[in-house]
Amino acid sequence: MYNKNIYKDISSAKKKEIEKFANDYEDFLSIAKTERLAVEEIERLAKKSGFREFKKGDSVKFGDKLYFINKGKNIILYVIGFSDITEGLRILGAHIDSPRLDLKQNPLYEKKEFALFDTHYYGGIKKYQYVTTPLAIHGVVVKKDGTKIKVDIGEDPKDPVIGIPDLLIHLSADQLQKTAAKAIEGEDLDLIVGSIPLEKEDKEAVKKNILKFLKKKYDFDEEDFSSGELEVVPAGRARDFGLDSSMIASYGHDDRVCAYTSLRAMLDLEGTPKYSVCGLFVDKEEIGSYGCTGAESVFFENTVLELLHSQGKDSIYNLRKTLENTCMLSSDVNAAIDPIYASASDENNGARFNYGIVFEKYTGARGKSGASDANAEYFAKIRRVMDENDIHYQTGELGAVDKGGGGTIAHISAKYNMEVIDAGVAVLNMHSPMEIVSKADVYETYLAYKAFAKNL
Ligand code: MN
Ligand code: MN
Repeated sequence: MYNKNIYKDISSAKKKEIEKFANDYEDFLSIAKTERLAVEEIERLAKKSGFREFKKGDSVKFGDKLYFINKGKNIILYVIGFSDITEGLRILGAHIDSPRLDLKQNPLYEKKEFALFDTHYYGGIKKYQYVTTPLAIHGVVVKKDGTKIKVDIGEDPKDPVIGIPDLLIHLSADQLQKTAAKAIEGEDLDLIVGSIPLEKEDKEAVKKNILKFLKKKYDFDEEDFSSGELEVVPAGRARDFGLDSSMIASYGHDDRVCAYTSLRAMLDLEGTPKYSVCGLFVDKEEIGSYGCTGAESVFFENTVLELLHSQGKDSIYNLRKTLENTCMLSSDVNAAIDPIYASASDENNGARFNYGIVFEKYTGARGKSGASDANAEYFAKIRRVMDENDIHYQTGELGAVDKGGGGTIAHISAKYNMEVIDAGVAVLNMHSPMEIVSKADVYETYLAYKAFAKNL
């Protein structure tokens, strides 16, 4: 099933399954627009499928379905297999953060009788893609007494949206001489959020009116922004794309497409697997995986220790043995060959839409620098499992040599000496406000993750 177009020989039953899965995925994308919202939605779906939150002192036995949540931004699921835990795990590891704009700690200001929010972009974006497009805001403001206020504005069709202005074409003669990197500067990614002045106010009356609105609706004051995490993302639902509706257009496919398919692979796993299966959903990948909710955190290691502890086996020896015996798919997206910019990819080695899950041996840039570069022996085993389960798969790389590059969380897990390879869905327009994936690839990736979890 290597390098074959899924639609070349497809049953009508499978077409229906693809469509059903795509609808579920679009619902997930439309709710899980930030890492915090993704954790909430993953927890909700896991609970519905019989998972329970691990509590210290729990005894853990085969067949158990458990989860751990780290500070609301990182969630880890386990299905305990019938082999001893120290024989190793089968990990599906995806990230649930996506590129976006974050409000600064002191964001609100007034200029020319407009109220604006100042932002600092998060992750790699082409800044010009974020102007003149409707944006929503999600996140929390935490007050000194610990009260956590949830903010969600811009998704409900009845909600207002916010956005960043761009200079009208009529007056853009100077701007259009600049390079694309400089046409919109980072400090100019500020959002217009209001224009009505507060009555009987002379100074910063529009800003004061916005503060009054925030106080009334959310009960917080200007200085409470300083302990807030407010994230600005493209507004609106995920939608079918293409006249044949074969694709999905949405913000956040990188990497919620691999998070959702990994999650569903775990939720839909039939019977008790041989090896314990772990779904690792991490934050901060787009800014280097640092931070206590990112892949570099020892939180994951601590959850493995908790499982071993619950069985009276929590020695450092058993922890290292478990991790070394583990096999992982670093579930992350790959760059699809773009028909208009095909020369950015190598035709024989780039990923194609509708050819199934993409296995990426190496990432990195300038001579694979920064890649963990998976082992041939490991990928050979995975190929066998894919073929035995009739799963369409292909290999890919992040662009032609020296065109750029990128990274994933694979190298972080590899330091435990576990086998790991990147595997996920091919994406067009990666990191843009409207990323595109193929519905057939999404479904095939789900099947591939399930086969890996049960059969490798
Ligand atoms: Mn990614
Ligand atoms: Mn990314």
